[in-house]
Amino acid sequence: MILPIIAYGDTVLRKVAEDIDKEYPKLDELVSNMWETMYNASGVGLAAPQIGLPIRLFLVDTTPFSDDEELTIDEQKQLDGFKQVFINAQIEEETGEEWAFNEGCLSIPDVREDVNRKDTIKITYLDENFKKHSKTIDGLLARVIQHEYDHIEGILFTDKLSALKKRMLKGRLTNISKGKITVDYRMKFPAMKKGR
Ligand SMILES: [Zn+2]
Repeated sequence: MILPIIAYGDTVLRKVAEDIDKEYPKLDELVSNMWETMYNASGVGLAAPQIGLPIRLFLVDTTPFSDDEELTIDEQKQLDGFKQVFINAQIEEETGEEWAFNEGCLSIPDVREDVNRKDTIKITYLDENFKKHSKTIDGLLARVIQHEYDHIEGILFTDKLSALKKRMLKGRLTNISKGKITVDYRMKFPAMKKGR
């Protein structure tokens, strides 16, 4: 089932999300709905707060990035078929040079800006079977994970822009929260809640 994606401005996107355990109700169904929602919106990642749940769960499938001709063969291989559920993730360490990448977000349609992040992360997480993993990841794959990880910490990529950029974007972000945009997937807008 395709779920509506929560738009910029909703408080659920600002919460530090909570860990879950194996008893979390209908987790399999939730994960399956999140994949469907992400693919329907042509995303490469989706975090639970973006569908209204403040829990530490996000999905990443970087396959669509893998045919970028500017990437090396090794980078293409790393991204092709990387499909992973991250539960209760913790980034232990971020190292390496900062580099800029033009990021977007399904909760902030049509806004794309260069964001600086460090190149390499060490991350610990559980997969959908609650098996623990600890990995060191770099490059574009790390970038996608860092973006999704920020969502479970209540952070959006627009927070990382300069004060000037933020000022320039303010009107567009307000319009998004009010639903004054055209978007080809289902969304829920915080400032459009029906009155009594
Ligand atoms: Zn996002």
